[in-house]
Amino acid sequence: MDNSYLLMEDHSNQKQMEGDLSFIGGHPCIPASMEIPVCQLCGAEQTFFFQVAFPEEHIWHGFSMAVFACTSCAHEEYLIPEMLQDTLRGVDIPEGFLEDYQKNFKCNIFETKKGVYRDSYQEKIQFKRWKQTSTSEPKIANNKLGGQPNWLLGDETPATYKISVPMLFLMQLMEDIKFEIVQDAPPQIRLGLRGNPEPSKHHYYELFLANNIYFFGTKERLKPLVYVLTQI
Ligand SMILES: [Zn+2]
Repeated sequence: MDNSYLLMEDHSNQKQMEGDLSFIGGHPCIPASMEIPVCQLCGAEQTFFFQVAFPEEHIWHGFSMAVFACTSCAHEEYLIPEMLQDTLRGVDIPEGFLEDYQKNFKCNIFETKKGVYRDSYQEKIQFKRWKQTSTSEPKIANNKLGGQPNWLLGDETPATYKISVPMLFLMQLMEDIKFEIVQDAPPQIRLGLRGNPEPSKHHYYELFLANNIYFFGTKERLKPLVYVLTQI
């Protein structure tokens, strides 16, 4: 997809409504059958960070992606998503990797129309609605869906999964995003200066150390899988 959609915060009304499809924080809107993911490292329920409904020209049109991550534990080797051995442009992602690498975070893909507002989820991140604004500038550096990724370092666009399934650029989030938390949300656990896990003093959460985050998806619609990587 060369068409690109900027994800712009909508400041007009900060109250979450049941019809909202693309947003940061608040309550997830995911299928009734989908559990809130649990961290495989510490067993805590993961925090809901954001979700997006893919726009019409997108290969994943009709699908949404909801992203969760653990904010209750911090492990040196899991601060960012596990990386491939070889991250050069055009690599093949080996079989099994995409099913297995999401230990303390989860990118859930589902049919948008099956999403149900999860009232029972204890909201931690402040709700902010995203507007999707179409742009003809595929290279614009912004939070966006589609277009071209803005690499800070080398181009790490993967080519395929299991050799046969092409990978496509889904979206990116720019570095330094602070996910403001609600009043009674517990502090994020992060690594302190001595390398020990400790509660953050900040009133926000970070996703993957607030690095630039790139999401790629399999072209296969029957079994959509996500590859996430970061750069700084
Ligand atoms: Zn955890």
